Amino acid sequence: MKPAPFEYHAPTSLADAVTLLARLEDEGCDAKILAGGQSLMPMLAMRVARPDALVDLRQVPGLDHIRLQDGRIAIGAMASKRAAELSELVRERQPLFHAATRLVGHQQIRNRGSVGGSFAHADPASEYPAVALVLGMEMVATGPDGERVIPAAEFFVTYMTTALEQGEILTEVRMPVLPPGTGWAIREITRRSGDLALAGVALTLRLEAGRCADARIAAFGIDATAVRLSEAEDALRGAVPNTESFARAGAIAAASLADPMSCIHASAEYRRHLVGTLLERALADAAARAH
Ligand SMILES: Cc1cc2nc3c(=O)[nH]c(=O)nc-3n(C[C@H](O)[C@H](O)[C@H](O)COP(=O)(O)OP(=O)(O)OC[C@H]3O[C@@H](n4cnc5c(N)ncnc54)[C@H](O)[C@@H]3O)c2cc1C
Repeated sequence: MKPAPFEYHAPTSLADAVTLLARLEDEGCDAKILAGGQSLMPMLAMRVARPDALVDLRQVPGLDHIRLQDGRIAIGAMASKRAAELSELVRERQPLFHAATRLVGHQQIRNRGSVGGSFAHADPASEYPAVALVLGMEMVATGPDGERVIPAAEFFVTYMTTALEQGEILTEVRMPVLPPGTGWAIREITRRSGDLALAGVALTLRLEAGRCADARIAAFGIDATAVRLSEAEDALRGAVPNTESFARAGAIAAASLADPMSCIHASAEYRRHLVGTLLERALADAAARAH
């Protein structure tokens, strides 16, 4: 199918993009931001989305940086996922984000798809929102009133819906570097390589004096947003990191899922089972890396 007709705008500065979005909103025009187009273009072609106008960010300078800033890694929203995957800074200082990036689609999709596009799209089966919850990332939004910083825990509202206001542009995401001695892991089950996850887990695990001092765990592909698995986190605190405690955490996580999604590809019970098993295995991965 072909997209329904739309106006196309290509601003050349962030200020122009913000002003343009505000004007289009005032005129009652339903405008959508275009980044890499890897999710939006198929939605337009299938007419799942029918915006009046597209505001393309690809000619806006200053949105594709990847740098260490005040001790955290700051990534411009228009940096491609491939750039994040190839970044030595990301690979060495935030390996969980690096590993998650490598699980997104195929290289062709990562070449075009932006880091910010995935966060703004907020697909519950996507790896990035879960990683954002685990790392306590911050999202920087720029709108007519300037910049505001939104913690990840408040950013993902529900299925493909974020806390971004109409007319706001996601301009940067910020994440801490991985503290020394902290293990990490991400595991998912997909129908084919490169597909979105039927279910997945991402986590960090800190060991201290031979025990689990802290765990931050999120699951994706099971609900309208990624979810923290706080009951499993609590069960791990103080536990000896071994197959028994990891199996117990997996069972607690599976039992704690209120109402996993069910679809033709995976029933709720299958997703529940996957989360328990993936968590158990991911904890073993993370423990092996926590030194
Ligand atoms: C075959 C295939 C497999 C894929 N597999 C995966 C996968 O395994 N995991 C995964 O996470 N994703 C997957 N994707 C999606 C891919 O990662 C997209 O790149 C991503 O979801 C959107 O990024 P984009 O830059 O292409 O954004 P676009 O498609 O341009 O935009 C997506 C949405 O975000 C909004 N948006 C984009 N940028 C901004 C911004 N800066 N501020 C505010 N709003 C913005 C747009 O208006 C639109 O609503 C897959 C896509 C395909 C085609």
